[in-house]
Amino acid sequence: MVVRFGARVESVTDTGPAIEARTSSGRERAQYLVAADGARSTVRTSLGLSLRRSVYPTHALRIFTRSPLDELLPGLAPVTYIRDPVQSCSLLRLPDHWRIVLRLVRGEPVPQRVAGLQLSDLNVIGVHRYNLAVGVLGAFHHGRVLFAGDAAHVTSTAGGLNMNAGLHDVVDLGRTLAGVLAGSASSAALARWARRRHAVLIDHVVPASEARVVGVQDGEAARLPAAVAALRAIAADDEATRAYLAKASMLDTNPCE
Ligand SMILES: Cc1cc2nc3c(=O)[nH]c(=O)nc-3n(C[C@H](O)[C@H](O)[C@H](O)COP(=O)(O)OP(=O)(O)OC[C@H]3O[C@@H](n4cnc5c(N)ncnc54)[C@H](O)[C@@H]3O)c2cc1C
Repeated sequence: MVVRFGARVESVTDTGPAIEARTSSGRERAQYLVAADGARSTVRTSLGLSLRRSVYPTHALRIFTRSPLDELLPGLAPVTYIRDPVQSCSLLRLPDHWRIVLRLVRGEPVPQRVAGLQLSDLNVIGVHRYNLAVGVLGAFHHGRVLFAGDAAHVTSTAGGLNMNAGLHDVVDLGRTLAGVLAGSASSAALARWARRRHAVLIDHVVPASEARVVGVQDGEAARLPAAVAALRAIAADDEATRAYLAKASMLDTNPCE
């Protein structure tokens, strides 16, 4: 096996019997190509495919601060999700700073207080906004090219669903492709892989991600006490906790062959 670190794929051509890639370090020829090159996939563009996206009315705002949030909020865990009727947020500790991530309806002002903190009192070192969008490629299998991860689908970042889905894409694809290359499965297994993963995105990932985005805008405050009580009940029961974590990791949507 050859690994070319730092080589950039510039274009790909499906010649029928093989797939050819022009890269920054020369030309490569292979039986199959796995396009896991992210949301702006060069491979996708090179094959003339597009990932049509709809942008949500909410966007994410990330605030980077060097203030010690764990000292300002004693007992704060390194990864904390705060559900609050006024402004939910995530607080994440990185090696040299903290991140506060908010979801805001576009056009609405940034709140002054978040998680009991006055934002103007913090040592803010940067602010970054990014749009939340949803889009799924019509098919993940095009001739000898197999699309996985963000190259095949983008969804709201809420709950880590899209990244999780991408990991499941490639674990399943790795097994399937190994079987095809070893001759123990026919190439039809790749088409089945593509349909399987596409169905998981359409039937599970997109609806779950939409439910989280919609919850930010409408009715979350009213539903919050019941949701927190339900989570407490799950956390008090080992069996229910395992089932919840398996679902959150999408292990319940992983129908490998
Ligand atoms: C600001 C931000 C916040 C996010 N927050 C979350 C979150 O909280 N939860 C969550 O689940 N997801 C989140 N995501 C999305 C998450 O990061 C992606 O779903 C995940 O990283 C996708 O993995 P991937 O491997 O498919 O693509 P990528 O992580 O984009 O990796 C693609 C790789 O391909 C390489 N590449 C690209 N083009 C070429 C080329 N032409 N030739 C060779 N190599 C190439 C890139 O260098 C990169 O290494 C966030 C994304 C952003 C931008």
